[in-house]
Amino acid sequence: MDFTALSKIYGTPLYIYDFDVLRENFLAFKNAFAGRKALICYALKANSNLSLLKFLASLGAGADCVSIGEVRRALLAGIAPYKIIFSGVGKRDEEILEALQKGILFINLESSQEMHRVEKIAQSLQIKARVSVRVNPNIDAKTHPYISTGLHENKFGVEIEEAKAMYLYIKSSPHLEAVGIHFHIGSQLCELDPILQASQKIAKLYSSLLALGLEIKFFDVGGGLGISYEGQSTIPLYDYAQGILASLGGYEPTIICEAGRRIVGECGVFLVRVIGEKSNGQKRFVIVDGAMNDLMRPSLYQAIHQATFWGEKRGEESVCDIVGPICESGDYLAKNVLLPPCAQGDLITFANAGAYGFSMSSQYNSRPRVAEVAISAGEHKLIREREEFEELIEKELKCLL
Ligand SMILES: *Cc1c(COP(=O)(O)O)cnc(C)c1O
Repeated sequence: MDFTALSKIYGTPLYIYDFDVLRENFLAFKNAFAGRKALICYALKANSNLSLLKFLASLGAGADCVSIGEVRRALLAGIAPYKIIFSGVGKRDEEILEALQKGILFINLESSQEMHRVEKIAQSLQIKARVSVRVNPNIDAKTHPYISTGLHENKFGVEIEEAKAMYLYIKSSPHLEAVGIHFHIGSQLCELDPILQASQKIAKLYSSLLALGLEIKFFDVGGGLGISYEGQSTIPLYDYAQGILASLGGYEPTIICEAGRRIVGECGVFLVRVIGEKSNGQKRFVIVDGAMNDLMRPSLYQAIHQATFWGEKRGEESVCDIVGPICESGDYLAKNVLLPPCAQGDLITFANAGAYGFSMSSQYNSRPRVAEVAISAGEHKLIREREEFEELIEKELKCLL
């Protein structure tokens, strides 16, 4: 990729996504479950750019949404309602109402209280709401605690016994229909075993529910498959799919997979430009125009995004931290990495930034959000304009004291 040319055309900082890699990664999921009924519901929160969603929709993707805003995005991108599911631990009544009115595939319930709210809203619409229960299997996903979700200490899902009681209630309700069963134990998972343990546990529950006369058609295995940020080995998709299918024994529900990061993570890079260098005693800092508001993962999770230098090699490499202009000591993009002497204007990229990069970005320090560009078959195209200062202040100007 010619980052110099792209930086001249679109400016920096910049997110660049390779849609050829995106297609490959999505189809890899589809192929892993080939021959079985399966729907890949891409988790929008990883990257919800509309052009990216449209592209995935054209490949047959469904959508896993965690807010009504994401449901609206999925519909706008051309994903059919019957391929959209709505998850999330705190859905508001008006979000539930709109999701039901739009006729999405199902709502993933996170508690009994939520079940009763969905029932009430369905009753007011005189419909039967399709639902699924998110079961918390109490399994340690062995990932960063901020992105682990499958333990009782996490806020997500309900315990197996409560789930059972919920399904029995749903069965008796004229306004609820149990169509799925769901689990999701965490994100950036690099070990298959915890996922399969969870799948086996939930498959057991699924089988006992069928025996009780519930007609559950969808077995939703969540997402969470990790990518290789630091050269670690990742879960082979074939083993993943085979393991899940094996956990289901002879049953053949439609598998729903809510993959996010594994589909979009690798396809993106974050491109920044060097502003300057400084040293505080022994410590060397390379200051760039991108910051934690643009790519939050290093500051939030101590995540590693491999840095690559694209400038002229003027001397020997030495250790430095790559930091942004934001007024926080936690504002860094990489720590203790080797870079040659840098000059103003040199370019640096951060790898694997397609997931939870732009979608987690903010305008902190009054920094407009950056532009996004798609590359496909050697062609580049802007898919989100860089924000302007005027957009940062318009909501305040409208009601200025
Ligand atoms: C975040 C999330 C996903 C996607 O996680 P990835 O790690 O990006 O695959 C899927 N399902 C649910 C319920 C989530 O919260």
